Amino acid sequence: MEKAAAENDDSGSVSLLVIVLDTNPSQRIVRQNPDNLSQCLDATVAFGNAHLMQKAQNKLAVISCHHHATDFLYPMPVKQLEVRQVDGQYEVFSLVEKTVKQRLSHIITNAPKITQPNESLLAGSMSMALCYVARMQRNAQPGVKIHSRILVLTGSNECASQYMTYMNVFFTAQKLGIVIDVCALDKSLSLLQQGCDITGGQYLRLTQLDGLLQYLLWVFLPDPKTRQMLVLPPPTKVDYRAACFCHREMIDIGYVCSVCLSIFCKFSPICTTCHTVFKVPGPLPPKPKKKKKV
Ligand SMILES: [Zn+2]
Ligand SMILES: [Zn+2]
Repeated sequence: MEKAAAENDDSGSVSLLVIVLDTNPSQRIVRQNPDNLSQCLDATVAFGNAHLMQKAQNKLAVISCHHHATDFLYPMPVKQLEVRQVDGQYEVFSLVEKTVKQRLSHIITNAPKITQPNESLLAGSMSMALCYVARMQRNAQPGVKIHSRILVLTGSNECASQYMTYMNVFFTAQKLGIVIDVCALDKSLSLLQQGCDITGGQYLRLTQLDGLLQYLLWVFLPDPKTRQMLVLPPPTKVDYRAACFCHREMIDIGYVCSVCLSIFCKFSPICTTCHTVFKVPGPLPPKPKKKKKV
């Protein structure tokens, strides 16, 4: 009786995985060898399908983060592609693969040409992923619990210019109970690492692309509950430095507005965020005199 109840309970839970894939051609790994993007794409598709394979009710979304826009690679926003079964492959797998590849080639063909490396709109893409998760949770059938997580796969460098959006994403995700996982393919990303730490996700930095799929399957495929029972890479020390609001650079020590908690690297008499006026620090003033009536 109890076992049956537990099984019923399990069938009412759905796992939603949103993969944010950085497809920006400015990434160092892509500039060095364009084939690396295909490798990341193949690994993403195989990983997404592995997630779908675990349970028939599992849901998947793939978002492409480009230098000019963020777009859904899967599912299609309006009408799904029509796929027939090929070689006995489960139709959903072929649907994921075909849709992702078709959409991405469309995005790459129509992207504006760039002359110099551009930053990826990662924070924006993650916001879009959050919106999608929120919509799925709102539209879920009564009694169905959706466990959601976002996996970011990127070889971009960190942009402190997106600091505010990142922080909004991280704390919103934490509030909604959404786990953020990050797989860094190039430099280490301290801001995204903070996001993983805040939401209870896993951060992994790879120094080479060989075996990318194996790493994804090992570290990111198990759901957060199962991960506690596995031996995963030990957590690294998180760099909790903040970016100043004036220059968007990471700083160790700075000034904090006592009203809105904005951070500045230099003293400024007016807070640019909330326009509070501060007194210029100087020698302590002599005893305050009573104001004279004018
Ligand atoms: Zn500054
Ligand atoms: Zn302020």
